[in-house]
Amino acid sequence: MFEAAMDTKLPLVRMPLPGPRAKQTVALDERYISPSCTRSYPLVAQRGRGAMIEDVDGNIFLDFAAGIAVASTGHCHPKVVEAIQRQAAELLHISGTDFYHGPLVDMAQRLEKIAPGSDPKRVFYSNSGTEAVEAAIKLARYATGRDKLIAFHGCFHGRTMGSLSLTASKAVQRKGFGTLLSGVFHLPYPNRYRCPFGAGAHDCGDDCLEHLEKVVFKKLVDPEEVAAVFIEPVQGEGGYVPAPAKFLRDLADICARHGILLVADEVQSGMGRTGKWWASDHAGIEPDILCIAKGVASGLPLGVTLARESLMRWKPGAHASTFGGNPVSLAAAQATIDLLESEYIENARRVGEHLMNRMKGWVGRFGTVGDVRGMGLMLGIEFVTDHGSREPAPQIRDRVVESAFHKGLLLLGAGESTLRLSPPLVIDTEQADFAAGVIEESIAEAERAA
Ligand code: PLP
Repeated sequence: MFEAAMDTKLPLVRMPLPGPRAKQTVALDERYISPSCTRSYPLVAQRGRGAMIEDVDGNIFLDFAAGIAVASTGHCHPKVVEAIQRQAAELLHISGTDFYHGPLVDMAQRLEKIAPGSDPKRVFYSNSGTEAVEAAIKLARYATGRDKLIAFHGCFHGRTMGSLSLTASKAVQRKGFGTLLSGVFHLPYPNRYRCPFGAGAHDCGDDCLEHLEKVVFKKLVDPEEVAAVFIEPVQGEGGYVPAPAKFLRDLADICARHGILLVADEVQSGMGRTGKWWASDHAGIEPDILCIAKGVASGLPLGVTLARESLMRWKPGAHASTFGGNPVSLAAAQATIDLLESEYIENARRVGEHLMNRMKGWVGRFGTVGDVRGMGLMLGIEFVTDHGSREPAPQIRDRVVESAFHKGLLLLGAGESTLRLSPPLVIDTEQADFAAGVIEESIAEAERAA
């Protein structure tokens, strides 16, 4: 069965879904697994190879979700698997908190080279995106001696209590957890399709920055008390919304003027997904702190908080993690970076452009497609009830996701009514065209049923 999954580039759905084995697992999951997890449809994965996933019943899917933008080099790339196996036989764990090991410094040197800007860098390793953000919050406070933080409406930075205090994507993610960190202020995020200031009299983003300087800094918090501004250069969970390059540059200037650190959360937009190493590179900004996770190790857990060397000067014991910088995860990350560097970042740029060229006509063609946007293979399609009102249409988006699943294409939503395309960066144009065809068919069906 696995051979078939390896051989085919396109899906093969053999039965009405979910199949019998999938049904069994879903039933057990409902009994045993935390119901806080969100599942859009009953995919029960068994194996993966490249951009393909085989389920427990032998159905084969084209994966345009990549485990939420994680499987950057595809599922089980042989070079990643080999690096993992080699390292697993050598040393599984040592704890970089208490002991030295080569992979920690090898990876740090590599990350310094690919990170935006030329200043020397240091890294702190953890295991996930939220931990990378927690470390950034602590480092920003520690290094500046200030405690206030700024983030954006629609942003998602994680779900532990610190990062959750920044997260402002969906109220359900914050509801029921009591008081979060105090001193966090949220700003409107520049969204070309849904300008938070109505018409958008200036260039997109100018009004958001005017709000920061004229309202937030004047009425809510003195900039001298602000440690950091956290931003996703392309909002992920919030709906795949890229911030304009000029906005990011102007924001960086404002931060520099006030001694505020700029933290780019590139947990989702990083590692080549946008067709460059970092979404920050499209704007030419050098964040003071960069948060990395998801695609960095092709599926093994690894979080990285990378900062200017001059900034990361906290004292021994100030912050640490038992598992952070696990040697096996770092081996996977080395192989991942090799592959991204040699072919897949360029592939993401090229195939992403191909896909975008096909999708940009959808706004004119479909009454419910309000906006198509993104960079590289980080693309979003926002659904609305009609072009005039721009009322979000989550029901159309959800139908498209469900119907694509039955046609063998794995998709995920983002934001209120956006479909996110975040495939492994290995897909080719045939797979991109197939996915686009399935989405077109599914939109047409959803519109007919509406
Ligand atoms: N930051 C961003 C931009 C994310 O997209 C995510 C997860 O989706 C996180 C942080 C949190 O990452 P994790 O789920 O690994 O904790």
